[in-house]
Parts: sequence; C-alpha cells; structure tokens
Amino acid sequence: MGAPMPDSLRAALHRQQPPEWAIACPLPYCQAKPGTPCHSPRRRPVPLGVHPSRADAWIAHQNAA
Ligand SMILES: [Zn+2]
Repeated sequence: MGAPMPDSLRAALHRQQPPEWAIACPLPYCQAKPGTPCHSPRRRPVPLGVHPSRADAWIAHQNAA
C-alpha cells in the first residue's frame, strides 16, 4: 500500500487508445490520422475520441481482414 505508481505504468494508462484509432477517420471534415483522436468540424474533441463512422469503418476493416 502506498507504493507510488511507476511512471511507465502511468504513461501506459494515459496512452490507452481506442482500437478504432488504428485506422484513419473516414469523415471528410475530420480525417483524423491513425493514432490521433477525432474532432468536430470546429476542431473540438468528440466524446470517446472516435466518430461513429470511424468505429463502423474499423469494424468493416476488421471483417475484411
Ligand atoms: Zn473522426
């Protein structure tokens, strides 16, 4: 108890990404690159960091593999 969290573990938790980030976002106004979060047309972050269309595209990508 009370042991500090190792920096490496802290970084890993902070860096946790949605699996959908493995592909680019298909939305024309977003086009988030792989490994980067989605954003709204006004460049605001979106909830969960992923557009539904990107999630759909990712699922299609998985099925195609
Ligand atoms: Zn997006």
